[in-house]
Amino acid sequence: MRHGDKRGPAAQDPGRKERGRGKGRHGRRAFDNGTLRLLILQMIGEQPRHGYEIMTELEARTAGAYRPSPGVLYPNLSALEEDGLIACAADGGRRKLCSITPLGQQHLKLNAAALEARAAHDSRGGGHRFRRGAPPEIVAAMDRLKAALRHSFLDAAPAEQAIRSAATAIAAAAETIEGLDTSPVSAPAEDTDMTQIITRHRHELRRRELTVREAADLTPNMRRIVLEGPELDDFSSLGFDDHIKLFFDTGAGKPEMRDYTPRAFGGGRLTVDFAMHEAGPATDWARDAAAGDTLRIGGPRGSQVIAPVFDWYLLVGDETALPAIGRRVEELPAGVTAVTLAAVTGPEEEQAWDSPAAQQTHWVHRPAGAAADPAPLLDALWALDLPDGKGFAWIAAEAGVARALKQHMLQDRGHPGEWLKAAGYWTAGQADASDKALD
Ligand SMILES: Cc1cc2nc3c(=O)[nH]c(=O)nc-3n(C[C@H](O)[C@H](O)[C@H](O)COP(=O)(O)OP(=O)(O)OC[C@H]3O[C@@H](n4cnc5c(N)ncnc54)[C@H](O)[C@@H]3O)c2cc1C
Repeated sequence: MRHGDKRGPAAQDPGRKERGRGKGRHGRRAFDNGTLRLLILQMIGEQPRHGYEIMTELEARTAGAYRPSPGVLYPNLSALEEDGLIACAADGGRRKLCSITPLGQQHLKLNAAALEARAAHDSRGGGHRFRRGAPPEIVAAMDRLKAALRHSFLDAAPAEQAIRSAATAIAAAAETIEGLDTSPVSAPAEDTDMTQIITRHRHELRRRELTVREAADLTPNMRRIVLEGPELDDFSSLGFDDHIKLFFDTGAGKPEMRDYTPRAFGGGRLTVDFAMHEAGPATDWARDAAAGDTLRIGGPRGSQVIAPVFDWYLLVGDETALPAIGRRVEELPAGVTAVTLAAVTGPEEEQAWDSPAAQQTHWVHRPAGAAADPAPLLDALWALDLPDGKGFAWIAAEAGVARALKQHMLQDRGHPGEWLKAAGYWTAGQADASDKALD
């Protein structure tokens, strides 16, 4: 696996990761290291627990303000084990169950006063006070948006692409907020949060006939086609993983239809990137496409917009996912981290993306014939140390690969299901076979 280092200034600061330990979702320090370790010990003292349960439980106990990443939790578990305060053993699968030892119980008793003080702090509201009646998450997010706009657009002459990306991101955020049910509810606020992480928008379904303006190889196996035409006037795509239908006449009655991502749209032009493989109506058309050719498209029928409430975004996939991954990275704002993990056939297939967001880029090289083997991406994902704070995971690849990656995030990492979206973008051995829900 090759790790790129195309990251924003915050990610390039070597001290940042360590300082992030124990911080809440907006960078406030939630616990010092000693308190965090004590809380973990206390939870294991209540009942034996797996690592992912502790992450979820800590998040619940801090009302969603703090969820340790595996990179924070597991070193703390190791330290507790080395000190003889807990004992962890494999419970049949790959996971370890940790139980408190007699020495650990004694340690808890000795530190009971510190735990009580922490509980009293939390019951007084801890770090969750409201400013001018607005929830602190909203105040922090607005401050972050203002600072990002000031930094990116007031002090410099920004590129047109950056202006378009920023405007799209702000419009998408506004649409998400307009679609929220903000009526008072008796359920806890964090429940409401969960159900509205993804907002769905419907578009009028239109078919359009477009002309190829440019066709060129972006990399040896990725062909970029730029389309244009007056029928694009009211084209709208709010989500980075929207899809359009492309229609291909094969001379066999009904046209063949395939799903593709609107990689970029603006200035009356729509860009679509085709991952080239052996054969298929879409691949064959893209291989030969030249300026002046025509293509019929339909949709997008709808867009799914992920609420911009996360500290980091994990994007994992194969070549077919790269258009969505690239678009997402370019559209993410400053102040968040885009962690990308993509499988391609070699270094010549790697892509670079400009973004105000910090980037942690990871590439896996495997032959085209192994695109349906989950192992290369799965092994790399196991090895990934994800940032602190809340993260949204997005996965798209061959259906069997995507299913294995999704399972790892949910079962091995304990990643919340509401903060994950996974799709099979194609199925090995079957034409026109996607699995968008992967259930
Ligand atoms: C929501 C969504 C968005 C997508 N966006 C894109 C995109 O932007 N760019 C992109 O390139 N793809 C994208 N895809 C994947 C693309 O739709 C499929 O790869 C599609 O099957 C390709 O059509 P085809 O006519 O070339 O091959 P098909 O006729 O569908 O398939 C022919 C044979 O090729 C195999 N095959 C299909 N795709 C691949 C592949 N990638 N690698 C190896 N073998 C393959 C099939 O299993 C079959 O055996 C997306 C899919 C979805 C569901």
